[in-house]
Amino acid sequence: MPSHADGGALYIVGTGPGSPGQMTHDAVQAIESAEYVIGNSSYLTALASFLVGKEVIRSSMGKEVERAQQAVDLARDHVVAMVSGGDPGVYGMASIVLEVLERSGSDIDVRIIPGVTAANAAASRVGSPLSGDFCVISLSDLLTPLPVIEQRLRAAFSMGIPVVLYNPKSRGRPHNLSLALGIAREHHASSTPVAIIKNAYREGEEVILTTLGEAPGKEDLVDMHTTVIIGGSESRLWRMGDHVKGIITPRGYHRKYVY
Ligand code: SAH
Repeated sequence: MPSHADGGALYIVGTGPGSPGQMTHDAVQAIESAEYVIGNSSYLTALASFLVGKEVIRSSMGKEVERAQQAVDLARDHVVAMVSGGDPGVYGMASIVLEVLERSGSDIDVRIIPGVTAANAAASRVGSPLSGDFCVISLSDLLTPLPVIEQRLRAAFSMGIPVVLYNPKSRGRPHNLSLALGIAREHHASSTPVAIIKNAYREGEEVILTTLGEAPGKEDLVDMHTTVIIGGSESRLWRMGDHVKGIITPRGYHRKYVY
C-alpha cells in the first residue's frame, strides 16, 4: 500500500465473500491505513475487528450515490476506505465512486483494491464449474431494465458456456429466476448441472447441487445471498466414489492427452 502522507486518499476496497480469510492482504492494509471506513452496514458488521479506533460511517442499501459523494468529499483531506463486498468492480461501488469523482472535477489519489467475487467464491465450493469461458449476469432489475436482462440471458445461454447468476431473487423480484431457468432450458438438456450456493464463506453457508430439470423445485431455497451457477454444454457432475461432490467443466485436456 503506497504512502499517503501528503493528503487524502480514497481506497475502494473489495472485502470478498464475507470471511476475513477471503480478504486480500492489500484489502486488509487499505482498511488498516484508513481514518474513515464507509460502507453498507452489513459489510461493516462483518469487518468489526478491523474497525477499532476508526471513524465508521454506516450506510444502507439504496444509498449508494450519497455514500459515494460522502466518500469523495472526505477523501480530499482524509484517508478513506470505502468497503464493497466481493469485488468492488463487479456490481459494486467502484463505478459510482469514479463517476461521482469525475463529475466533482477533483484530483484525488483513488485506488481500486480487488476482491474475491461471488462467482469465484461460489464456484470454489462446488469443484471447478467455471474452468474456461463463462458469463455473469445479474437478475436485479433495479438499475437494468428486465427486457435487457432477458436479452442478455438468451445470448448467454445460446453460447453453451456456464452462466453465473448474481442477485437471483429478492422479495421485490421473485420471478426473475424462473425466467432465467426457463431460458436456460430452451438451450440446455434438463440433465445440465446447476449449483445453488448460499452465503459462501460466511455463516449459514449452504450448497445445493441439482439439475436444470429439477431446479424449479428448489427455487424457494434461493434468496439474495445466493449465487446460482448453471453449467454449460460440457459441464458434468463431479463424483468421488458414490458421492456427487460438485461440477466439473472440463477445459479440454481430454481432447489432447490421455490421463
Ligand atoms: N460485488 C459483489 C456482488 C454484489 S451483487 C461481488 O463481487 O461478489 C450481490 C450478489 O452477489 C448477491 O445477490 C449474490 O448473488 C452474490 N453474493 C455476494 N456474496 C455472496 C456470498 N457470500 N455467497 C453467495 N452469493 C453471494
